[in-house]
Amino acid sequence: MQSSTSGAEEVRRLQRRFEREHSARLAAEAIAEEGLRELYARQQQLLLLEAIAAAANQSKSVESALQFALTAVCESTGWPLGHAYLVPSEGAKRLRSTGIWHRPQAGDMRAFFNATEMTDFEWGAGLPGRVLVTSAPAWIADVTAESNFPRAHDAMKAGLKSAFAFPVLVGTDVAAVLEFFSDKASTPDQILLRLMSQIGTQLGRVIERKRAENDLLHDASHDPLTTLPNRVLFLELLARAVARNQRRPETMFAVLFIDLDRFKVVNDSLGHHAGDHLLVEVAARLSASLRQSDMVARSNAPRHGTCDTLARLGGDEFTILLDDLSDLSEAVGVADRIQKTLAAPFVVEGQEFYASASIGIASSKTGYTSADAVLRDADLAMYRAKTFGKARYEIYDQTMHEAAINRLTLETNLRKALKNEEFVLHYQPIVLLSTAEIIGFEALVRWQKPDSDLVYPGDFIDVAEDTGLILFIGMWVLREACRTMRLWQQEFPRQQPLIISINVSARQFAQQDIVQQIRQIIHETGIDPHTVKLEITESVTMDDAERTVRVLSELKELGVRFSIDDFGTGYSSFSYLHRFPVDTLKIDRSFISRMEQSGESFEIVQTIMHLSRNLGMQVVAEGTETEAHVETLRSLGCDFGQGYFFSKPLSNAAAHDLLQASTPMANAPRAKRPLATSRSAKRSAPPCAQHPVISTGVNAALSR
Ligand code: C2E
Ligand code: MG
Ligand code: MG
Repeated sequence: MQSSTSGAEEVRRLQRRFEREHSARLAAEAIAEEGLRELYARQQQLLLLEAIAAAANQSKSVESALQFALTAVCESTGWPLGHAYLVPSEGAKRLRSTGIWHRPQAGDMRAFFNATEMTDFEWGAGLPGRVLVTSAPAWIADVTAESNFPRAHDAMKAGLKSAFAFPVLVGTDVAAVLEFFSDKASTPDQILLRLMSQIGTQLGRVIERKRAENDLLHDASHDPLTTLPNRVLFLELLARAVARNQRRPETMFAVLFIDLDRFKVVNDSLGHHAGDHLLVEVAARLSASLRQSDMVARSNAPRHGTCDTLARLGGDEFTILLDDLSDLSEAVGVADRIQKTLAAPFVVEGQEFYASASIGIASSKTGYTSADAVLRDADLAMYRAKTFGKARYEIYDQTMHEAAINRLTLETNLRKALKNEEFVLHYQPIVLLSTAEIIGFEALVRWQKPDSDLVYPGDFIDVAEDTGLILFIGMWVLREACRTMRLWQQEFPRQQPLIISINVSARQFAQQDIVQQIRQIIHETGIDPHTVKLEITESVTMDDAERTVRVLSELKELGVRFSIDDFGTGYSSFSYLHRFPVDTLKIDRSFISRMEQSGESFEIVQTIMHLSRNLGMQVVAEGTETEAHVETLRSLGCDFGQGYFFSKPLSNAAAHDLLQASTPMANAPRAKRPLATSRSAKRSAPPCAQHPVISTGVNAALSR
């Protein structure tokens, strides 16, 4: 009995031991299996991370990196649906769908996609908004039961259950969020979320790299002062518009070329710093006037106002590309609005002043094939707007192109003329009205073409001014006029030596070394500077009053004298006159010619006479054409006249003959006469035939 009991016990003990060992082995096996599984899962995760890191390094765009990550995560986790958001601009507290998905083939998810893509997720809103706030991954076990999940209804229809999302971080900022959905409910998997954080870091590097690249690109294509697109970028965008327009000729674009009027005055008088400040202000006003255009005037404009581009080409030149126009009047509307927005005063460094712009408009109606051509024509139209009085717009047309070609030809010919010494001077007598005695001459330049055409300054001075050729022509005129007058003064000595009046253009006057130039010419020619009178226009004196006073005073010290030419046609601010050391006012001939018919012109002449008397200045009446003019002018107390009544401008030889005929010493032997310098001398009619009034020396009618 004893032994059978102990035998049974032994069996039970062995059984227990076996069970213990079995369950230990099972446990050990389970542990081993779990470890293996974990190891496998880890390995898979590492592979996923590696694959995404590699793709991120090689990706050409943020979008392609996001697409790769979505697909890789979905395939690795078995979650069927993934989608990416981006923060629309750096620092924005919002997320916008990129439209980039990894999605299953089956199932109708259209409503869910729409709801996702049409919503901007604000700070804290829904799953992406939550990630934006926490900068950390988030998990929702069942989106249909979640209170902060605005797409719950559409998610339910799409059969979606659980979701997780994680941030793509650049530094500590959320730059993007990726979200994933499953059709099964599941509890948070912390290991998976940790892995997703690491993926987020990898993707963040792509965004960071792209931002740096974009910054570089931005610098190369933008103006650093105003941050507006520069010429390079503008031309690129314009080229695209031209190409689009060629593909779809029914569409229309226009370019506005904007140039500030008198910007140089600000720059020169207040300095470059103030000039820069003004440009920044102008840029702000221009871009404000554009945004308005999208909202108000252009009702058919797309939601984001696609293509209206404001650029700064350089200096005070801005351009605007208006795309998707339905009518040219819309471009005109923008030009009008720009004028209005610039009309309010600008305050720069405590100084208030007014700006305006000249605007040229070119549109695709002309049928362009290159961006350069559009810009060239808009520029031409702008130039026309400037010529027609500034603060206005002009629309390009074909005649402007022809005019531009003509100008270009003229410029080339002028350069040749200068090289070939084709310029000559004519001299028009300036006469003492009371006696008709010649007191001097005004030197007037002409272009004697080889084909015998004589071209008058009205046909070339403007182009010479614009191209800077006037600087060379002007120097030649000064030297030649002084040289000739010096010879005449020697040959026809008088108690009051003859005066030579010489026109000096604004551009000549603006040269830094104008004083040295004139000093040099006086020295070279040996002329008495007191017999040299420089004719400047009112615009010269207005441009930069401080400098004008300085330069005039320096020249005055040399002995040179000054007239204000065409007086009455410019800004005519009488108040500034006393500040300038000016000796003579030359009343513009438009007033003289209308003096008898128009009471207003008569009064202007009368006022100028009063003014000059008060300021102790002499007055020369330009365009004195008739005896009646002479009578009226004398009755008003005008001392001097110049005009066809006395003489037209004469060639050098003819002027010399006139002097000889009207000088008491006229019977001096002809051999002593200085050589005529003008080639046109031969062509000029003898003064007696042309100018009976002066040729007799003293006109009986006038000397009464
Ligand atoms: P301006 O200096 O006012 O010269 C007077 C102009 O009036 C001259 O025209 C002259 O021929 C014209 N004139 C004189 N008397 C009469 C008259 O009784 N009736 C009419 N209808 N016209 C008269 P021009 O020679 O064609 O010169 C035109 C303008 O060209 C000048 O006006 C001056 O501004 C500019 N100019 C001429 N020579 C030069 C020059 O050497 N340098 C510069 N910078 N400008 C010059
Ligand atoms: Mg003149
Ligand atoms: Mg004049």
